[in-house]
Amino acid sequence: MPVYEFQCPKCQTKLEQLCKMGATGEDLVCPHCGNRGLKRLLSGFAALGVRGGQDKCGACSGGNCSNC
Ligand SMILES: [Zn+2]
Repeated sequence: MPVYEFQCPKCQTKLEQLCKMGATGEDLVCPHCGNRGLKRLLSGFAALGVRGGQDKCGACSGGNCSNC
């Protein structure tokens, strides 16, 4: 499973979370303010993609869409 970086849109707290492929962060709860629905940051994925040799799907160029 990949580690994604998420950011809370409410308090801007960032966190890394191990979650299943294609997770958007909608179900995650901010540990700082309790806000539900975090925003996934693409930068964290890119760094991990190089390290983990993540496969890309055919539906996007970045390897981070819901089909990946
Ligand atoms: Zn928050």
